[in-house]
Amino acid sequence: MDIDQIELIAGHPALDFVNTVENRESAEPVSYVPDYGRFVLWCAHAGLVLDSDARELAEVAARHPIVASRVWDRAMALREALNGVARSLADGDAPAAHDVAVMSDAVAAAHANRFLAADQPGPLRWAWRDGEHGLAVPLWTLALAASDLVAGDGPPIKVCANGPCDWVFLDTSRNGRRRWCRMHVCGNAAKVRRFRERRQTR
Ligand SMILES: [Zn+2]
Repeated sequence: MDIDQIELIAGHPALDFVNTVENRESAEPVSYVPDYGRFVLWCAHAGLVLDSDARELAEVAARHPIVASRVWDRAMALREALNGVARSLADGDAPAAHDVAVMSDAVAAAHANRFLAADQPGPLRWAWRDGEHGLAVPLWTLALAASDLVAGDGPPIKVCANGPCDWVFLDTSRNGRRRWCRMHVCGNAAKVRRFRERRQTR
């Protein structure tokens, strides 16, 4: 699938990142970001990095495939840890210690690689150190977004009610009763199922 067609429906980029897998719990999950190049393009799609930076990073990754693949491994570990934590929060359970540790390490690395730059007149700006050829910047940006999400007191996290889908999202609906990640995919699937069930019971 084209990166631009991947839906961003979660209301938070860190949860949209969790949703870069379809049917995670099935025998054949599909990841939309199976390598560093796709990962960095997705980060641009989600507004976490500039398009121009993503294109540049994809070129750097092609020159440094081993470093890129190491960063991608850490990004996938962060994604799965965040998935675990998000589901625990949605269920009102305590998150698994391993998931919290993975997230915490990613956030610590992000903070350790940020500094204040005074390279222009006016306010200082946050900048990133350029270890690993700059390839980890999208990962660090995601880690900070993820920590804001899980440590904040924003709207509740929900898991899509359409069984096999299991995407996650923030429920910002006024009555707090949003059930589906994507109405046109999962809401309709559930309606069709209910319709069939009603017919069978007649
Ligand atoms: Zn869904």
